[in-house]
Amino acid sequence: MIISFSSLLPLSEKSETFAVSYESALLNGHPVRKSDPFRLTVTHHEARDMEVSGEGELVLEFPCDRCLTPVDVRIPLKIRRRFDAGTLLDEELENAPFAGEESIDVDLLITDEAMTGLPMKVLCRDDCKGICPTCGANLNEGACSCDQKEMPTRMAELLKKITDAGEL
Ligand SMILES: [Zn+2]
Ligand SMILES: [Zn+2]
Repeated sequence: MIISFSSLLPLSEKSETFAVSYESALLNGHPVRKSDPFRLTVTHHEARDMEVSGEGELVLEFPCDRCLTPVDVRIPLKIRRRFDAGTLLDEELENAPFAGEESIDVDLLITDEAMTGLPMKVLCRDDCKGICPTCGANLNEGACSCDQKEMPTRMAELLKKITDAGEL
């Protein structure tokens, strides 16, 4: 979604509010599960000195770190960016990749903002048991038939086979 602020440029300290939402299906590879419209206020201070602010929320899907089950994660957006519209004339202003001389690419702005708030680690639940390393079963859905006590025996058998075959 592109919003134009050209009508603000002839006036100083003028604001306009836009209803915006994130429109892409993915954000940094994560499926977007929910993106409610929220209000974004664009202010023209003076010359090319612009500001954009607003608060919203996205829900993105992440795989659980242990069992890979998809998990919905709320990503709060607290946008407050002062930027230079167009070329950088004032070193104190950010030359924002999401902004053109008269417009803002809302998806780029939201992506830029959300990237700083993405979780490092996601679990479907605190005590997620993960997946069985042998058969790949999701252990949250019950124990698999690979008895953990059998593991050392199986490993020993496997090692013996390899040794017997003269591969070690
Ligand atoms: Zn999990
Ligand atoms: Zn198993």
